[in-house]
Amino acid sequence: MDLFEYQGKQFFAQFGMPVSAGEVAFTVDEAVAAAERVGTPAMVKAQVHTGGRGKAGGVKFAATVDDVRKHAGNILGLDIRGHVVKRVLIEKASDIAEEYYASFTLDRSAKKHLGMLSAEGGVEIETVAEQNPDAIAKIWIDPVDGLTEEAATAWVEAAKLNPDATDGAVKIMMQLYTAYTEGDADLVEINPLIFTPDKRVHVLDAKVTLDGNSEYRHADYAQYDETQPRDEREEAAHAKGLQYVGLDGTVGVIANGAGLAMSTVDVVNQVGGAAANFLDIGGGANADVMSGALEVINNDPAVKSIFINIFGGITRGDEVANGIIEAMSRVDIDSPIVIRLDGTNADEGREILRPYLSDVLQMEDTMLDAARCSVELAGQGDNK
Ligand code: GDP
Ligand code: MG
Repeated sequence: MDLFEYQGKQFFAQFGMPVSAGEVAFTVDEAVAAAERVGTPAMVKAQVHTGGRGKAGGVKFAATVDDVRKHAGNILGLDIRGHVVKRVLIEKASDIAEEYYASFTLDRSAKKHLGMLSAEGGVEIETVAEQNPDAIAKIWIDPVDGLTEEAATAWVEAAKLNPDATDGAVKIMMQLYTAYTEGDADLVEINPLIFTPDKRVHVLDAKVTLDGNSEYRHADYAQYDETQPRDEREEAAHAKGLQYVGLDGTVGVIANGAGLAMSTVDVVNQVGGAAANFLDIGGGANADVMSGALEVINNDPAVKSIFINIFGGITRGDEVANGIIEAMSRVDIDSPIVIRLDGTNADEGREILRPYLSDVLQMEDTMLDAARCSVELAGQGDNK
């Protein structure tokens, strides 16, 4: 779950970290009212699930409440990398002497948490990593041992921040680590972490990704779940109880079992196509489930062909075949379908399907051939 900046700051504040006073607003009038409470000068900041807002004109300094009105009017509705701004954060403006970068995430290969700290904040860390990798001080933390103040101090010193920022930065890094671990986050990032002219270290931006699987032990995470951007196709599929993930391609995929569904997406890619979705119909490939799946895929305007990939285990091939035929009589499908049916009672299933085969309902013996065929029907692929 990705948090908006204002949510990330509320999350950080629970761990004692210093953030600016601010309020979120959904309209220009709300932004003005918020500015009157927060005080000026204020920052007007677009709240979207993407970075680089500053460069895109989504972060503005407002000296007066009138400026807040003007900037909020411009920023609300702005499209930032495909994200339309629906809410702004009105926040008390800070004076900045220096901008730093700080983050924690998991380094899977090291089986440790990785902390990164740099005196070159404000810009994208990828740019720093590319142009000046030595400017990033890294620390690997064994999750069992945790982060000691001694290790944090050595790490902060290695980052060569302003020496006067050391104590403040160590304190915030300890708090940030606690927020990351106790809060079950996958990523916490502060960019910029600032050093002010009056020598305080302060959190100016927050990027937080929480592990959605930990919701059961954080009652308050439901509020973040509600503000996640939703894929309309995913909403419709989940309402039907289907395991569906929307993707960007043109081949609609239906498979039974998560592993087979993932392999199907892969094999479509392998032959030069791109899947429009991942969809696992699970064990029950009956007419109801199949109709639901076909409906969801058929409603996706990007879909140009449909690849149904079934491996019968407990589910029998003849049942699946009958389910498909019944579903096709219920749903008016716009795209050609390619079926690959294997496993238990596959021969019986294929016999049931055979009389129905046509240009728009094809059957292939192997997964690879079926992938090629569906990719070709979608007008993609290189037929390698
Ligand atoms: P991002 O572009 O999406 O990462 O948004 P940030 O929240 O990081 O803001 C971008 C830049 O705006 C920061 O790097 C700062 O330089 C500037 N900025 C943000 N908040 C303030 C503030 O309170 N005071 C001042 N002077 N500049 C700010
Ligand atoms: Mg930033």
